[in-house]
Amino acid sequence: MVGDDPTAAITCELMAEMLTDLMEGDLPAEIEAAALDHLASCRACETVLADTRAVQKLARDHGRIELDPDDRDRMLGAILAEVDGAPGPTRTTEAE
Ligand SMILES: [Zn+2]
Repeated sequence: MVGDDPTAAITCELMAEMLTDLMEGDLPAEIEAAALDHLASCRACETVLADTRAVQKLARDHGRIELDPDDRDRMLGAILAEVDGAPGPTRTTEAE
């Protein structure tokens, strides 16, 4: 059941999908709060966000680097795979 608690619905996969909207401030306030809550407790997503921000800053500084969605997804997937073995990522499960 993930009906009335948006925080419980946030998974690392969802975070990867929402990352751009989160950084652009395009998420509804309730979802953004839940996403930030997940970030606060998930080192994996925190790392992904930091890396993505670094790439975007690079792009802004140079004004020419643009990732197409395929590249972005591949990059996020690679980062997620890399941090997957890191100690302590909090996984949200619906099993309990
Ligand atoms: Zn996460």
